[in-house]
Amino acid sequence: MFLVCLCYAVASLLLQMLSFSSGDDTMADSNCLFCRILRGEIPSKKVYEDEQIYAFEDINPKAPTHVLVIPRKHVAGLREAQADDAEIIGRCHLIAAKIARDRNIEKGYRTVLNVGPESGQSVFHLHVHLIGGRKMSWPPG
Ligand code: 5GP
Ligand code: ZN
Repeated sequence: MFLVCLCYAVASLLLQMLSFSSGDDTMADSNCLFCRILRGEIPSKKVYEDEQIYAFEDINPKAPTHVLVIPRKHVAGLREAQADDAEIIGRCHLIAAKIARDRNIEKGYRTVLNVGPESGQSVFHLHVHLIGGRKMSWPPG
C-alpha cells in the first residue's frame, strides 16, 4: 500500500513538473481572466464572435463604445506574440473596424493595445481596445 501511494505521489509530482516546464499556455489559461470569459466561467456582453475571435463590452468603459476584441488563443500580449500570431492580431483590428462601422462611429475611433504594466496592461491575454463615440485628445496619457 505504501509503495502504491509513493508511486502515485511521484507520478503526480512528475506530471506537475512537466506542465510547469513545458512552457505552453495551459497553466496561464486556467488563471487567465479572458480565457475564463471565453470558457463562459465569467459572464460578458458579447458583441461579436467567430472561430478565432471574441469581442465583448469592457466592464469599465472609457467611452460610449469600449469593446475588447480578443483572440480565442491565449497569447499573453503583443510582447509575447510570435510570427504565426500575425494573422490573428490583424484580424482583431479588422473586427474592431467592422464593429466601428456597424456602430457608426467611423468619424474617429481608436484601436489600442496596451503592452506591459507601465502602459496600463492589466490583463495578460492579448486584447485590442476599440474606443470611440466621443472626441478624443492626443497624445494619450
Ligand atoms: P488593459 O488594462 O489590460 O489594457 O485592459 C483590460 C481591460 O479589461 C480594462 O479596460 C478592464 O476594464 C477590462 N476588464 C477587466 N476585468 C473585466 C471583466 O471581468 N469583464 C470585462 N468585460 N472587462 C474587464
Ligand atoms: Zn488567456
